[in-house]
Amino acid sequence: MVAALDIQVTKTLKSRFSEIDINHLPFGKYYTDHMLEVDYKDGKWQKVAIRPFQALNMSPGLSAIHYGQSIFEGIKAYKDREGNPFIFRPIDNFRRFNLSAERMEMPVVPEEIFMEGMRRLVELDKDWIPMKNDYSLYIRPFMFSTDETLGVKAADTYKFMILLSPTGPYYSSPLRIYVEEKYTRAARGGFGFAKAAGNYGGSMLATAVAKRQGFDQVLWMDAFEHKYIQEMGTMNVFFVIGDKVLTPDLEDGTILEGVTRDSAIEVLREEGYTVEEGPIHIDDVVRAYEAGELREAFGTGTAATISMIKELRYEEFTIKFDIDGAKAAPTVKRVLTDIREGRRKDTRGWMFKV
Ligand SMILES: *Cc1c(COP(=O)(O)O)cnc(C)c1O
Repeated sequence: MVAALDIQVTKTLKSRFSEIDINHLPFGKYYTDHMLEVDYKDGKWQKVAIRPFQALNMSPGLSAIHYGQSIFEGIKAYKDREGNPFIFRPIDNFRRFNLSAERMEMPVVPEEIFMEGMRRLVELDKDWIPMKNDYSLYIRPFMFSTDETLGVKAADTYKFMILLSPTGPYYSSPLRIYVEEKYTRAARGGFGFAKAAGNYGGSMLATAVAKRQGFDQVLWMDAFEHKYIQEMGTMNVFFVIGDKVLTPDLEDGTILEGVTRDSAIEVLREEGYTVEEGPIHIDDVVRAYEAGELREAFGTGTAATISMIKELRYEEFTIKFDIDGAKAAPTVKRVLTDIREGRRKDTRGWMFKV
């Protein structure tokens, strides 16, 4: 069914690979030698190009800058122990990307361009995939509107691109989290479920205020009562209470449907845990803590992987977690690492071969 995607490939004349230390990488700082670029105009996608990583030349009237039609994805590529490159669950990111596109009134990207374009780009720059533990090649597909007029309307032209960034761990130690009651991230009917740039723009102030007080991230609550837990803005959140693992459900469209969230649910169920998706009231978390039933809390996301929470601040309550006694989060982390490195059978077809 899939005709070979016609890509115009221009290779770099001078690789920058030797300029980085592949075993010491901060998150998202360096880019590989090449990038993918394709424009949408006259109602259709134009020719796909892979070219040397370089600056874009654009009008200051660019509509994405003014009105924010801008969405993205975050995916990771790894090498197994034999050095074969794989991408983790990219088809799920492809589907989510187009849900984001539809919500932001942007054109959908054909599967061929997204999947085969990404595969070809990663194949070309595969030397940049680190093999060190907790390291990977972060893949950043994104799309933004490119009209050059200031009229407020959905744009007629867009650019879809993919960048690659060899990357180390996002958070290096367990997190201190501030339960946010003043600011909100998303409300029913909004676009919290979309991986849209605007969701991040709107979250910077609350995150910065929390960071100034020594926290790593905020935990977003529902927009109406500030009582129901949503997510952490770059990560979905899980709580272990008694013998159950709980995570907020996706019903009202305010939470991003994380691929790592889904992987964690599947892995935990396979390992015999009871996982429940549903509303989580912050008072129930506090009550469980006071009753000695609150065992763990952790975040899940592609960039930050599985991040344990060591402290949760809610009003006058400071909830501390026993990081060394945690079982569920380390289980998810170990199983996912084993699948990626080929020590455990990939029964669900999560590893997409490059
Ligand atoms: C990307 C993202 C996540 C995590 O999703 P993954 O698919 O697991 O990477 C969680 N919340 C928000 C707001 C995000 O943008």
